[in-house]
Amino acid sequence: MKKKIVILPGDGIGKEVTTEGKKVLDAIAARFNHEFIYDYAVIGHDAIESTGNPLPDETLARLKNCDAILFGAVGHPKYDNDPTAKVRPEQGLLKMRKELGLYANLRPIKLFDELLEASSIKPEILKGSDILFFRELTGDVYFGEKGRKDDGKTGYDLMIYQRYEVERIAHKAFIAARTRKKKVTSVDKANVLESSRLWRETVQEIGKLYPDVQLEHQFVDAAAMKLIQNPRSFDVVVTGNLFGDILTDEASQIAGSMGMLASASVGDQVGLYEPIHGSAHDITGKGIANPLASILSAALLLDISFGMKAESEAVIAAVAATLKEGYRTADIADANTPANKRLNTQAMGDQVVSHLKK
Ligand code: NAD
Repeated sequence: MKKKIVILPGDGIGKEVTTEGKKVLDAIAARFNHEFIYDYAVIGHDAIESTGNPLPDETLARLKNCDAILFGAVGHPKYDNDPTAKVRPEQGLLKMRKELGLYANLRPIKLFDELLEASSIKPEILKGSDILFFRELTGDVYFGEKGRKDDGKTGYDLMIYQRYEVERIAHKAFIAARTRKKKVTSVDKANVLESSRLWRETVQEIGKLYPDVQLEHQFVDAAAMKLIQNPRSFDVVVTGNLFGDILTDEASQIAGSMGMLASASVGDQVGLYEPIHGSAHDITGKGIANPLASILSAALLLDISFGMKAESEAVIAAVAATLKEGYRTADIADANTPANKRLNTQAMGDQVVSHLKK
């Protein structure tokens, strides 16, 4: 198959990890006889520096003219510490999601058995955890009216959801649950928030169309607790933008590290694939970032955007084999990891590729 992929490295470790993600896509193309044509574009801090715009029109045009996007991360300490900055790297990301209609963010949280000990959660609680999050991506406080009043002494962000936004992501969650354990947990804060009451009412109605799927509702505070207490009790979780943002970072601890979690953002057009982590300024340039989240994002890209199941499974198997051999980047290593199994970003990518060549 011939496919065009836009690589959007972004900022910080985004560049380092997408290099490895692309390396794996190249290995897949060679092994399965595909032709992947790559196009590169800028976003975030880099784009602000070169054009003044975190999502230049030229980037957007390229994104609209490809079969899938492999994205790294955006963000720069300059902006994190300056709340008054008018132009910010994250605006590029939010605009991209909106412009491409990427309303559903899928975050599979699956623990590789080899990493049972890497998590701060007890192995007996973790073993067998397999959760698929659906985080709504184009509504909520991120896109509601925001501003300052009272001479800047009051700040506000409107939490807002429209019925159709909840309906479309609920359908995606129920459809996915049918291929899994047939259970959907919808997370909201309906005891306090009106937008959450709309969320719950809508999910209940959509749920009636899927009588074979069990639907339960949890308040976000309780869900945050249960995720750590009993992660195996979840199958598919559907939630809003803000709650999903926070809960999936928490859930990354089930998988051992932020560096292990991939995500897919899909809507009605092109799909975008990215690790859940950010640009990680604290480790940028040190060559120690874990590239597996980007590599697993490439696996999602192959499966969801290209329908290449075998290719996607080959990537996941290569990651599992690499971990089984004991190879670890710093974030997933522990005191028992011998020096010769401790790998930098590039060497970890090479190790995964070596399994794809076998
Ligand atoms: P972060 O995800 O970048 O990092 C959190 C912690 O996890 C850091 O200690 C980091 O070193 C570690 N970490 C993250 N990815 C790792 C990897 N692949 N390997 C090893 N360790 C890893 O979150 P943050 O520090 O809160 O934010 C840093 C910047 O990233 C900010 O500017 C923020 O706005 C941005 N951000 C961007 C995105 C995105 O582009 N999707 C998401 C989250 C944060």
